[in-house]
Amino acid sequence: MRFGSLEAGGTKMVMGILNENMQILRSTTCLTRTPEETMPDILDFFEGEHLDAVGIATFGPVNLNENSSEYGNITSTPKLAWRNFPLYRTMVDTLKVPCLVDTDVNAAALAEATYGAARNLNNCLYITVGTGIGGGLLCEGKLVHGMLHPEWGHIPLSRHEDDPLTRGICPYHTLCLEGLASGPSIQNRWGVPANELLEDHRAWDLEAFYLAQLCVTALMTVSTERIILGGGVMNQSVLFPKIREKLSEMLGGYLQHPRIENLEELVCPPALTPNSGLIGGALLAKRAYEST
Ligand code: ADP
Ligand code: ZN
Repeated sequence: MRFGSLEAGGTKMVMGILNENMQILRSTTCLTRTPEETMPDILDFFEGEHLDAVGIATFGPVNLNENSSEYGNITSTPKLAWRNFPLYRTMVDTLKVPCLVDTDVNAAALAEATYGAARNLNNCLYITVGTGIGGGLLCEGKLVHGMLHPEWGHIPLSRHEDDPLTRGICPYHTLCLEGLASGPSIQNRWGVPANELLEDHRAWDLEAFYLAQLCVTALMTVSTERIILGGGVMNQSVLFPKIREKLSEMLGGYLQHPRIENLEELVCPPALTPNSGLIGGALLAKRAYEST
């Protein structure tokens, strides 16, 4: 079995060929330019590879309604050249194999639940805290889409009373997760790139306060069994213990379950970095193949 996987990102595209055991046989990357410039590189990589199916794990927002003629179109992205671009259609028309599309973060959640930090679980939330904040949710083994797809980065939060800012940097919302806790929002608040802030900077207490609120929401709304926090900002190692401590405080002893007793396991880093997108894409391809 040969599965094609495309991880479509705002800065780069990652393409891979994987076998049925999800081993990466071949992979490459190219920079994300306009669709006219980028798609030939992507299609060239996959053409002639005798693929059984292709999975696309893409930045969003993306149309995931399989009954829509616009399925797999990028929708209202600020990357104007990609707005309304028919990514799925372009791939299928050229490669002529079954293809399934999902968000990059849903694909990562699927990969982590199959082989990584949420192995053997049917419920997990995968969050990336980087230039933006996005999340993918696996519920009872299904990747959640709902009406569009969840936008974990834009859930509203309570402001920390010591936050020097009264609003986040999201152009749409005064106090949302991405506006308050993404890498650029940390830089905006402290005037220094997030990766240059030292471990003892109070930035990390604020950051943990905001990410712990996300965790409370995930536990109270969908009762997820694992919260996987990845992305560049999570490279700051003081964050995990601080988030778990704040989360425990915020839960207030209300939830009773052995998993809550073990926050180190419940709130954890990804296990498949940097391959979760590529493996997730191939798992989507496998699902596409199996449903034909
Ligand atoms: P992207 O979201 O663009 O895919 P990343 O997930 O790598 O990229 O996130 C980039 C963000 O992560 C930047 O804002 C950067 O400052 C921040 N970052 C990278 N390394 C660290 C680190 N060690 N500590 C804190 N923040 C970091
Ligand atoms: Zn927002």
